[in-house]
Amino acid sequence: MNARVTATLRTPADLVAHGLASPDALSDLEKVAARYAVALTPDVAALIDPSDPHDPIARQYVPAVEEMATQPVENADPIGDHPHSPVAGIVHRYPDRVLFKLVHVCAVYCRFCFRREMVGPGKETALSDEAYARGLDYIRAHPEIWEVILTGGDPLVLSPRRLREVMRDLAAVDHVRIVRIHSRVPAADPRRITDEVVAALKAPGVATWVAVHANHPRELTAQMRAACARMVDAGIPLVSQSVLLRGVNDDAATLEALMRGFVECRIKPYYLHHGDLAPGTAHLRTTLEEGQALMRALRGRVSGLCQPDYVLDIPGGHGKVPVGPQYLSGEGEGDGAGLRVTDYCGDVHHYPPREGA
Ligand code: SF4
Repeated sequence: MNARVTATLRTPADLVAHGLASPDALSDLEKVAARYAVALTPDVAALIDPSDPHDPIARQYVPAVEEMATQPVENADPIGDHPHSPVAGIVHRYPDRVLFKLVHVCAVYCRFCFRREMVGPGKETALSDEAYARGLDYIRAHPEIWEVILTGGDPLVLSPRRLREVMRDLAAVDHVRIVRIHSRVPAADPRRITDEVVAALKAPGVATWVAVHANHPRELTAQMRAACARMVDAGIPLVSQSVLLRGVNDDAATLEALMRGFVECRIKPYYLHHGDLAPGTAHLRTTLEEGQALMRALRGRVSGLCQPDYVLDIPGGHGKVPVGPQYLSGEGEGDGAGLRVTDYCGDVHHYPPREGA
């Protein structure tokens, strides 16, 4: 077992000291850590089985030497935030919504992060007061913005006082009706979701939604479930956000358990992201075909309530599109009107049914 962890582990030496990395790997992992931030909270560290070399929690958080290999297709800004950033902190990709990136630090650092070149100590820092004011001015000046998505970095590392101020500022903008907060904190540091934080997330005039990021059913601990219950019971709807990751959740049984777990927590499965082309993450990416096969399998195993959208962020900033399997196809030319539809077992049917069928 790993030695009991009482504070966030931030260096390869910390990981070695707690049995979460081999001493032989130390110098390689220090090179990785010099490039990409490392942080494992005590909650995350406690979930890792150090005797399992393929542990799915370790794979998400413990640096690996493969991260030093960048593929030609990989890109420091894989989903194209920069070309759509009119002012610091704002990404305006779709007409009715913006990302507002308040901080560039997180409670934990995920090895597959699509913003890994932007987050972590020594990267960009939190928005200055002036930059925050300019971001807010941009939102005020664009009446088409209906939804503001707080992302990062992880906005739930902010103090309750700061969260309260941000929510009040956004709620004061008439055309902003929805504030959506994307966070890894409910799973990675659930005790941060105190009653004070929950209260700070609510502001008259806007509906707050929280997108909870978790990738493996073991992350849905009793503490995580309690943190989510505090938010839902306070009237904050939750949706899920997961990344399809090789060796973590790329099998139907794990995905099924994860999605069922979300629904049990009153979290509606929302996104299953295809792995972005972030530098040094090829070992964690599946193919799109594998993702589609998994979604087809999931359709046969769980109800619609448990189905996320399998989505790809088109490299270059062209937005997100669903890339799940297709169930409908056209008939051959001259075959008359009608379609073919594939059921969850893979059997094909005509629609509308043919006479006598
Ligand atoms: S919490 Fe989110 S922003 Fe932070 S490292 Fe993980 S994926 Fe990236």
